Amino acid sequence: SIRNVAVIGSGMAGLTAAIMLGKSGQQVKVFEKSRGPGGRMSSKRVPGGAVDVGAQYFTGRNPAFLDFLENYAGADRFGPWHGTFGFQSAQEGWQPFPDETRYVGIPRMTAITRGLSDHVELTPQVRIARLNRMGTRWQLICTEGKDHGEFDQVVITAPPAQTQELLAASGLTQLLSESQAPGGDILPCWAVAVHFSEAPAARFDAMRPDSDVLYWVANNSSKPGRSDASPWWVLHATPEWTEANVDATPEAVSNELLAAFRQLTGFDGTPVELVTHRWLYARSASSEQPGFVWDKGQGVGIAGDWLEGGRVEGAWESASQLAEAMQAG
Ligand code: FAD
Repeated sequence: SIRNVAVIGSGMAGLTAAIMLGKSGQQVKVFEKSRGPGGRMSSKRVPGGAVDVGAQYFTGRNPAFLDFLENYAGADRFGPWHGTFGFQSAQEGWQPFPDETRYVGIPRMTAITRGLSDHVELTPQVRIARLNRMGTRWQLICTEGKDHGEFDQVVITAPPAQTQELLAASGLTQLLSESQAPGGDILPCWAVAVHFSEAPAARFDAMRPDSDVLYWVANNSSKPGRSDASPWWVLHATPEWTEANVDATPEAVSNELLAAFRQLTGFDGTPVELVTHRWLYARSASSEQPGFVWDKGQGVGIAGDWLEGGRVEGAWESASQLAEAMQAG
């Protein structure tokens, strides 16, 4: 029989679950609190293009993931990033990243989630606050108190704190304790994108420096399909520095990150444009367990990167495993 399924969240996990459940014949609706899909696979529009301020690249270790992207996002919406990657260790200095194909969205990270979202029925700008039991179904209530319909099953793909808030408000205490078990703390991240009029001479296109301030530094314009006349660089602060400066002003944050960038590269060009974004939930340090959570009796499932290794490919793995478990009954 055809079931009505609600998916909360339209990042990689939510879109994957919605597409797979739809493909198996379920009637699926996706709800997203932001203006558009993508979640942490995020790009900010800037004059002349866009710059990726969230996920920087992703792996395609499971060929089924790349097949899924080709089929539903489109083969022209992503591709390998042929940049140079290096990390710095206190003992051994700079070293190249291990060989691996690293993929990005083309011409921006959100090209992927835009493509995927064409295959789902998405309601943006609705933040689900509570699930209300109505017999054997769940009624979805948003933060404005509006009713968004009744569903046989619900898939939650929000980051852990937001998922737990929703479960608590819905009286789903068993699921709440299961969702706390993975202990996946998602760490915050201050992100700054800077546009320079001339190219900094840097050792690599993307770097993981040995720094208390900078976690990641990358030349966004070295990704495929970007058409910037002069380069945009992305600077991510370390989780520790972000936690210590979480309430700092964007201006103070960008000044400090730029100072660290200057120290790292020796480049002293002045940015011509600058964009700052604070991620309260960025990357998790969580384990590979349990992959997903599915309470068949309640008809409520949970998927997301934080249940499966904390990366884009993990978000896909988590959601596809959950969709499979739901189809199995
Ligand atoms: P999300 O993308 O967070 O999606 C959850 C969605 O749910 C969001 O759109 C949110 O708005 C929505 N939502 C939440 N609550 C509600 C609600 N109550 N109602 C409705 N909607 C709701 N991964 C990599 O693989 N490689 C990287 O290089 C990398 N770098 C990163 C750098 C940064 C700065 C950040 C922030 C992340 C990075 N990641 C990276 C992690 C990667 O972005 C995530 O693992 C992945 O995008 C998570 O997908 P998801 O669908 O599980 O969660």
